[in-house]
Amino acid sequence: MPRSKQMDMSIILDLRQNFSQPLTAEHAIDSKMLTSVENSLLKGGSLTATITAQQAPKGLKLTIATHGKGLVECDRCLEDMEVDIDTSNELTILSADRYEDADDVIYVEQGRKELDLWPFVYDFIALAIPLTHSHPEGQCNPEMESRLSQYMIQQEEPKE
Ligand SMILES: [Zn+2]
Repeated sequence: MPRSKQMDMSIILDLRQNFSQPLTAEHAIDSKMLTSVENSLLKGGSLTATITAQQAPKGLKLTIATHGKGLVECDRCLEDMEVDIDTSNELTILSADRYEDADDVIYVEQGRKELDLWPFVYDFIALAIPLTHSHPEGQCNPEMESRLSQYMIQQEEPKE
């Protein structure tokens, strides 16, 4: 799981709230947050995370929807390119003493007051980026592209 370098880059969920009714909060995610993650796949972007939390029989159920644009490096010309991010994921928060063999569960110790959801939200955003991504054919930076292909073919030759 990625770690945030700075403590203020967080999406705090106050676990002391009353979740008998669904509680929804929106969080803005900016380039600063996206690039604060170690080895971030994103070079920037602007997204909104909408997080709904509600008490369910089996723990606190979270629905995390992220929507917006992310900036990633084009596979072909290495220039920035935009990708649309639109995800919806679910997580369940369970007390650490109620271990269950289930996916998408966050275990927290009894009496925990807050939980930082940002590492989880980042993961969902990163997973939404296509494995390969490049500008549409013909829309790469032509200068970069030719320079790179030249470099790959003639690595020995000095650059001008
Ligand atoms: Zn490109």
